[in-house]
Amino acid sequence: MFQITLADAAGRRSRLTYDPHASSLTDENGAPVVAPGNAHPWPTAPRVDGAAEPGRKTAAIRHLKVQLGLKCNYACSYCLQRFQPEHDEGGATDVLHFLERLPHHFDGGSDGQGRGVRIEFWGGEPFLYFKGKLRLLCLALKNAYPNATFAIVTNGSVLSAEILDWIEAMGCFVAVSHDGPGQAQRGPDPFDDPAKREWIVHLHDRLAPRGLFCFNVTLTAQNHDLSLIRAWFVERLGVRDPSLNIEGMALPYTDEGFASAIIEPGAQRSAMTSVMKAIIEGPGLAFHSLRSKVDDFTRSLRARRPSSALGQKCGMDRADSLAVTLTGEVVTCQNVSPEATAPNGQPHRLGHLDALPEARLTTATHWSQRRECAHCPVLQLCQGSCMFLQGKAWSAACDSEFTYNMGILMAALYLLTGRVPVAIDGPIIRPVHGHA
Ligand code: SF4
Ligand code: SF4
Repeated sequence: MFQITLADAAGRRSRLTYDPHASSLTDENGAPVVAPGNAHPWPTAPRVDGAAEPGRKTAAIRHLKVQLGLKCNYACSYCLQRFQPEHDEGGATDVLHFLERLPHHFDGGSDGQGRGVRIEFWGGEPFLYFKGKLRLLCLALKNAYPNATFAIVTNGSVLSAEILDWIEAMGCFVAVSHDGPGQAQRGPDPFDDPAKREWIVHLHDRLAPRGLFCFNVTLTAQNHDLSLIRAWFVERLGVRDPSLNIEGMALPYTDEGFASAIIEPGAQRSAMTSVMKAIIEGPGLAFHSLRSKVDDFTRSLRARRPSSALGQKCGMDRADSLAVTLTGEVVTCQNVSPEATAPNGQPHRLGHLDALPEARLTTATHWSQRRECAHCPVLQLCQGSCMFLQGKAWSAACDSEFTYNMGILMAALYLLTGRVPVAIDGPIIRPVHGHA
């Protein structure tokens, strides 16, 4: 239980009690701040714990992430993929094998034609694989599963008229990873090249009105002012309402990535306040993911979502979420090579598509196995950060996630009550750096 102190415009104080495990938020009289809806049973999320309690994968795949290969023409400073060991990415023949294989191991969604399924194509930079693999793969999957939704995450630097026409014809959702004013941490800025800028603007203008486009921004210690970020895109695109999303905080997957994490308490306080203010004042709500996080928090209170229903934040601990290479290697997630080893010493290669029931997710730790998460007021918003990080990297990731999600929680509380949260007291356990 956490006690939240709020202040109204006249400075009068009041208190709320919040239990993130029962999703209960009550005032001083014990009345719920959000009226509960109809009670319904919640499924229990798997509580994976390395090799001791591995996760499983099922043929009822509802989130399929196809890793085309990890090659990229950028080198973002905080990118996990940069330092992954090389592996056999597969060529055009492997695409054909993959397409033959998939229907034997995938139920095709609730109607056998992709209903309820999201299929994502991942690089590296996926459009580096456009002619050799992506074009054929996407067309064949679209024909086989016409009711699935399709998505691609790109850095937007290798677009062309041919690729744009293809995207439109496929009806793919496209997310362009771009950090706005903080783009230098990723590398070159495609907006600085007039031809590249034109393709990106074209893509935005054609797809955003159909809900098929967003810019994905990753926040860092150096770049987390949401108002500035939004203003940057408004100016560059020349539109009042650019389609924007926050991917989350940059996490310290590499030594270089620690510089992007928000660890120092002063920086945490200022980033938290900045996120809260941007949401309350409006610019923060221009980002799809922030709107949906605020809504999700309110829904969690209305539905009394228990923490037992919470899986990990990215969902890759779920049995129905599958990341696979074109050669059929099942991996922890789309960001890792099957040749890599996770921080807990387990291989990121979990098994093979041809033997899916035998695949074991041994690289992950569910939030319930981390003492800090069970004693955290932002658990319902954060869901435990990256499931395979350990030690000081997980501690630093947790600090960044705490900062970001606390800013969102404070804004959500303000939007629900009209009062500003000024303190949260209770049994909060924060990581001890280097020993989490
Ligand atoms: S902020 Fe840290 S302790 Fe809280 S849920 Fe996220 S990872 Fe766990
Ligand atoms: S396990 Fe999830 S959070 Fe961690 S790198 Fe993979 S997708 Fe991202």
